[in-house]
Amino acid sequence: MLLETEQEIAFRETCRRFAEREIRPLVDGAEQSGKFPKVLLEKAAAAGLLAITAAEEHGGAGAGLIYQCILVEESARVCAGLGTGFISLGNRLLPRVGTAAQIERYYLPLLRGEKTAAFAMTEPDAGSDVLAMRGTAERSNGGWRIRASKMYITGAPFSDYMLVVVYTDKKARRGGLSVFLVDSDLPGIEIRKLDKLGHRSMETGAVFFDCEAPDQALIGEPGRGMDYVMSVLEDGRILHAARSLGVARAALEDAESYARLRTTFGKSINQYQAIQHKLAHMLIEVSNAQLQVRQAALKFDAGLPCQLDASVAKVVASEAAVSVTDQAMRIVAGAGYLNELPIQRYFRDARLYPITEGTTEIQLRNIARIAGFA
Ligand SMILES: Cc1cc2nc3c(=O)[nH]c(=O)nc-3n(C[C@H](O)[C@H](O)[C@H](O)COP(=O)(O)OP(=O)(O)OC[C@H]3O[C@@H](n4cnc5c(N)ncnc54)[C@H](O)[C@@H]3O)c2cc1C
Repeated sequence: MLLETEQEIAFRETCRRFAEREIRPLVDGAEQSGKFPKVLLEKAAAAGLLAITAAEEHGGAGAGLIYQCILVEESARVCAGLGTGFISLGNRLLPRVGTAAQIERYYLPLLRGEKTAAFAMTEPDAGSDVLAMRGTAERSNGGWRIRASKMYITGAPFSDYMLVVVYTDKKARRGGLSVFLVDSDLPGIEIRKLDKLGHRSMETGAVFFDCEAPDQALIGEPGRGMDYVMSVLEDGRILHAARSLGVARAALEDAESYARLRTTFGKSINQYQAIQHKLAHMLIEVSNAQLQVRQAALKFDAGLPCQLDASVAKVVASEAAVSVTDQAMRIVAGAGYLNELPIQRYFRDARLYPITEGTTEIQLRNIARIAGFA
């Protein structure tokens, strides 16, 4: 059992109630239709959940990352695809570097659940190797001509706007990347929805840009794009770990309940040591992930360096999600393979976590670098 403060426990209860009451009834419909119900964002905003970490001047509660982790974990425990809609990179980047006008037009509507944002960096030939991207923005008519082909963009099909990372100076490599706020309905933008294994209730798109964006679309200074992205990387990875943790917990809880009820050879299967050991290993992996997420989030909130902790939490929790959901499938066996139970959904969703927000291999490379092994 994780040691939490009274306030954290109370907030977890609020998130759990919200997830059970508002997310759970939407899961089957959204997973089957592959359509994200935007009404959920209005409900989350009305419950005060979207603005918990926002500054008071922006109408938020000014709470720490630890609270956002709790929200992400509890929503992922019910449905990771739907829960992904609550936090976008824009949520974290805009208050740090946006102008007053950008905050007013793009950030505050996110907190009110009125707008949705997507973050478009990956390209077909540039995933882990970000600098291999080809997308560019060039000066034209007092604005910017953006040409890019982006891939796997979460939320793009229903987004109101996207934060798009492209080169404004390709020769400068890392120092030539910039971030733009681009309205998704601008002429010259085409979004194609992608079919995928998991997170089916969260729409993902391939986005083609050949559009004219106004001068004010640039976020911060040109050429500082990578610095801005890096500035939200740590909390991004910690939140990602919290999502993996939510899915792992759901799989453990469901497998445990199933093992109590399922009888073979005249005994419930939880009486067999083989099953008890599986559950025990799953519990150990979940507990490890809980500790790593908490440690990383608390360090982040204390303003301490936590790059290493964020990468460790990301690897531990995402690999725990893969392993725990795999074990849950074995315990629930035939019934787990049917779409009638959510075990198969957890299993499919968990396969995403070692890939996004920096693959496990890339995290291990970071960990080795930060720890000074290389
Ligand atoms: C459902 C989904 C949602 C996504 N959402 C978004 C989004 O909203 N916005 C966005 O910009 N991107 C998004 N992504 C993209 C995601 O971040 C990339 O898929 C990820 O960065 C990996 O890139 P890649 O798939 O091109 O793999 P690659 O970079 O081609 O990697 C292939 C394999 O090689 C390994 N590898 C690569 N380089 C090294 C190295 N130097 N050392 C060791 N191993 C290495 C990788 O770990 C991996 O195993 C999403 C992806 C998916 C599947």
